[in-house]
Amino acid sequence: MAAMPTYGGIDLGGTKIQAVVVDDDHEVLGSARRPTPTSGGPPGVVAELAAAMRDAARAAEVDLTLLAGVGVGSPGTIDDAGTVSGAGNLPGWEGSFAMAKTLAAELACPVRVGNDVQVATEAEFRLGAARSYASLLGVFWGTGVGGGLILAGVPWTGRGGAGEIGHMVVVLDGARCTCGRRGCMEAYAGRAAMEEHVARQVDKGRRTDLFKLMHERGRTRLTSGIWARALEHGDKLAIAVIERAVQALGAGIASAVNLLDVEGVIIGGGLGVRLGDPYAQRIAAAMQPHLFIDSRPPNVHVAELGDLGGAIGASLLVAGDGHRSARS
Ligand SMILES: [Zn+2]
Repeated sequence: MAAMPTYGGIDLGGTKIQAVVVDDDHEVLGSARRPTPTSGGPPGVVAELAAAMRDAARAAEVDLTLLAGVGVGSPGTIDDAGTVSGAGNLPGWEGSFAMAKTLAAELACPVRVGNDVQVATEAEFRLGAARSYASLLGVFWGTGVGGGLILAGVPWTGRGGAGEIGHMVVVLDGARCTCGRRGCMEAYAGRAAMEEHVARQVDKGRRTDLFKLMHERGRTRLTSGIWARALEHGDKLAIAVIERAVQALGAGIASAVNLLDVEGVIIGGGLGVRLGDPYAQRIAAAMQPHLFIDSRPPNVHVAELGDLGGAIGASLLVAGDGHRSARS
């Protein structure tokens, strides 16, 4: 069957690793998911990336050795050699690690690594909800809150560190962020920060079913699915904490829009995709009072490639027309 070239794509998140095998038309032939290991540091993570890729190849019935290449979207700052630095949301990941080289040796095929959020933004721009836009802001609402930018049809990465919308300050001297600073959007909207906030509220005697749901489902963290379930149940604390996150997202995204005036805002990430369009529209409503030109808000959409968008985007790093940003 595999006369057409096939490519691997892996999205490395703080909670899960999602791998896909795609064909030349970016169609997903097979996929696999594994939890991100919480111990073992970078070598442990790379071993699981390889395992997830093997699982996806098996699901696609494609021989791993026939893959033309594997792209990885990773948190952190990535250099041209595929060395990852500053991936603070990965457990035990400090300093720099030669991810591309290590994974290429493990899988015996070419590997390219890009920033997870940037590759997911480019996937939406080329294949997803932002196909008709020349400028967009991708906001990935998950363990943290990441951002990706396309301006006038070209990805904008600044000096390598652009797009950190999660660290827009939305409250001066506000809540402590995972980055060590205060008042960042992520300190209110990142799932890790939200979980800590809920734990503190429970210590103060507030009631919630969030942790009960977590134990029932055999999880160790409040995943997007658990948040969604708690909201469906009308859990008051979950509703309040999500509303606090939505307000922070509204303020931070609107501030970015005031600066950049993009045509579209794409809401992705684990929580963004799981909660879907009703919450994307609530974020749009929360943006509205902060928009300087409030008569002409940008369109706000949920990432169309959904949960697989990051992995499909990563495959674009190695697929034929590769990392080109221009649309044909
Ligand atoms: Zn921060």
